[in-house]
Amino acid sequence: MNDNIRLAQLLFGDVTLTPEELEERFPPRNLKEGARVTRFAPSPTGYLHIGGLFGALVDVLTAKASGGVSYLRIEDTDKKREIDDGVSAIITGLDSFGVHFDEGVTGFGTESGAYGPYTQSQRVDIYRAVAKRLVEQGLAYPCFCTAEELNEIREKQEKEGEDIRGYFGKWAKCRNLSFEEQKEKIEAGIPYVLRFRSSGSLDRRIFFDDVIRGKIEMPENIIDEVLLKSDGIPTYHFAHVCDDHFMRTTHVIRGEEWISSVPKHIALFKACGFKVPKYAHTPQVMKIDEEDGTKRKLSKRKDPEAAVSFFVEAGFPKESLLEYLLTLLNSNFEDWRRANPKEDLFSFNFNLKKMSSSGCLFDLVKLTDVSKNVISVMDAKTVLDRVLTWAESYDRELFGLLDRDKKYAEAIFSIDRGTAKPRKDIAKWSDVRNYCKYFYDELFDEEPVLPDNIGKEDAVAILGAYEKVYDENDDKDAWFAKMKEICEPLGYTPNVKEYKKNPDAYKGHVGDVSTVVRLAVTARKNTPDLCSIMALLGKDRVFERIHRAKEKFSA
Ligand code: GLU
Repeated sequence: MNDNIRLAQLLFGDVTLTPEELEERFPPRNLKEGARVTRFAPSPTGYLHIGGLFGALVDVLTAKASGGVSYLRIEDTDKKREIDDGVSAIITGLDSFGVHFDEGVTGFGTESGAYGPYTQSQRVDIYRAVAKRLVEQGLAYPCFCTAEELNEIREKQEKEGEDIRGYFGKWAKCRNLSFEEQKEKIEAGIPYVLRFRSSGSLDRRIFFDDVIRGKIEMPENIIDEVLLKSDGIPTYHFAHVCDDHFMRTTHVIRGEEWISSVPKHIALFKACGFKVPKYAHTPQVMKIDEEDGTKRKLSKRKDPEAAVSFFVEAGFPKESLLEYLLTLLNSNFEDWRRANPKEDLFSFNFNLKKMSSSGCLFDLVKLTDVSKNVISVMDAKTVLDRVLTWAESYDRELFGLLDRDKKYAEAIFSIDRGTAKPRKDIAKWSDVRNYCKYFYDELFDEEPVLPDNIGKEDAVAILGAYEKVYDENDDKDAWFAKMKEICEPLGYTPNVKEYKKNPDAYKGHVGDVSTVVRLAVTARKNTPDLCSIMALLGKDRVFERIHRAKEKFSA
């Protein structure tokens, strides 16, 4: 028995599982040529960053477009970043935006798929089996250095002007301990981590083809990276290598902050005898800073819109956010959308190669525009259902009002909907309260303010004349004819063109007359079709509001 085998026995005496058994338990997936297996691998922090949703969408679309598999893996090896049930918030966030994986974790403590468990803390036996093999091959060793010793090393490296900091070469004190020395320390109960024995050299370079960024060249890894921490829990570096291999991931799609770790990861894949997957590093989600106008990363601390929950709470429909994210992800998405206006966006032929490698700019104003378009083409029943679902959690008063008489509520959303040029007043469900304020006396808290070109006395006269002719049974044409009818006796013209030709001859035109009525009934200058609004409000409420406005303007 050589020393490596003895050491492996000493460190992992209890491990009987072998990498060969794991190869058999998790065989290569039986998928068609070119099918991609992707994963979304968040830590259970209970917080889903918009960049996370962005990444998850890329994973799902990449797998779908190639007839492959996407799965959700929870990376809970860093206890400091974890919160109790930090999984549900992530899954709920993804779910609210219609991002679903083919396999993996499905909830707190639940999962589906044949390549699990999909939570890293439940895979310790797998990591230990691989780690044991590395020790047997002399590719990993225990390191007994304390935190103080590691600090000292770092300080010395700084003083000596060492370009690379970390545990390697002459600094790696435990790398060359004899088996007897190792045994003595282990038997004395001295805590240790397991380190990779790197064979990298600074003179050599590695090359890899990033699917998004193309060929990348970097120096080889020379660091003896930690594989298992002193509590036996793996580091991200080691865990992802084992997981992506045994879950048969073909494409590791992750944030660009991981690019610098690729040399380390390639070295680990090779040492373990695993095929190196393809890497695709996605750009960061950026924004223009409101204060100084610079482009910067969306920050969890500074930007509420960095959290996916912000969009859920504001009531952006999932279609809007996904639609917008796709325009950021693939430059050809908008052309595809124009050609396929009704198609489910998950059938878009997503292509990683068409992703831009520079940061993508998240623009709330553009999202708002996209969302207005999305909502403008929904039918009234859909709008009502979606608003109710949102309001039930986020605006109970609005929920109560809409739910009290659903027919009335649906009729509100029907106004001007389904036309060739639908209105675009609503970008998110939280806009609905303001949108329908004047339909509910309980919410109607605005006062009409006349524009500068209409005097109070004229407004009172207009309302007085209008009261006399208004008939709630009039259709749109009759309604407008009446609006015109009252113009002339009041010094207004029913003809806008005529007014423009001869402005000094009139106080105003029919548009000004209807503005006064609109203001009295809704307190707004701009609303959807006023005739429909008045029909919905009914005669009593219309008269009541006209009286109130007359009183206000006479005061
Ligand atoms: N668990 C890592 C993180 O949350 C994910 C990195 C990866 O996708 O490989 O940052």
